[in-house]
Amino acid sequence: MINSKFLFDKVNEYYSKKAAERSFSAFLSEDELSNVKGYNEAKYAYKAAVYDKEKALYLGDEKTAAKKQAEAEELKKTLDKITSSIPEKKPVYECEICKDTGKTDNGYCKCFKDRLLTEAYGFLDVKRPTLKSFKEDTLSSVNKTELLKSKLIKYADEFSDGKKNLILFGPAGTGKSFYAQCVTERLEKNGFTPLFLTAFELNDIATGAFEKSPAEKIITDEILSTCDLLVIDDLGSEPIYNKITVENLLEIISRRTKENKPILITTNLTTEEILTKYGERVFSRITGKNTAILQLNGKDLRKQ
Ligand SMILES: [Zn+2]
Repeated sequence: MINSKFLFDKVNEYYSKKAAERSFSAFLSEDELSNVKGYNEAKYAYKAAVYDKEKALYLGDEKTAAKKQAEAEELKKTLDKITSSIPEKKPVYECEICKDTGKTDNGYCKCFKDRLLTEAYGFLDVKRPTLKSFKEDTLSSVNKTELLKSKLIKYADEFSDGKKNLILFGPAGTGKSFYAQCVTERLEKNGFTPLFLTAFELNDIATGAFEKSPAEKIITDEILSTCDLLVIDDLGSEPIYNKITVENLLEIISRRTKENKPILITTNLTTEEILTKYGERVFSRITGKNTAILQLNGKDLRKQ
């Protein structure tokens, strides 16, 4: 899960607000009851009867105690009747799983992680993408990508820290971005915090780093190095700035390697072109033994 105190605090703020709203609405229902005719009177009479019973017991007057006990029971019935006459207001939760607490018995709720992702994209100043899902894939049979698709589903469903990096090679229009989005969507559903960025966006983040404060840089690094999967879509489409692009990429890869967090890259480039464009260090890291390489040769999906 993305590990950034700043983002956690932001998300926790939301759940605290929800908790405050809940206790306020509980207060409202007591308020509503006291508006019902006879409720307050019965409430005080009940309290008094209970008090008198205790007092009688203390004084050893068992006869009065029994009488007060009977009175209290009657009043309790009246109170219950009034309470049940008010239609029960079922709280409306945005998340039924965790009842808007952000937590379940198994740890953080999916809604918490979802909010964490929204905060992360927001902090990076990137629009959160609307992801495609494997369900929307109608072309894999036509394009003979069934095998690739099943490999990707397996990757997402057996995902954990230390999973291999993935690189999807293939010409434009073969569905690389589509499949990368499907993997991201599936991981989100499975309770992970994957981040989908285009190479262009990632490059923008790196080049904009100069205007950021040290604290902002730390948060950016936390997001990029600890999100469960970092997708870099369409590597090679971004402008290459002197050193920044390559150094940034190297830094992200090595930080993520340290954190045991994988990367998924899609690219139109061939391996030779990656070598030429990004140099030996990037090349060896993203095509090394810890990377599974998948090739898409299919026909252009966009022309179908
Ligand atoms: Zn939830």
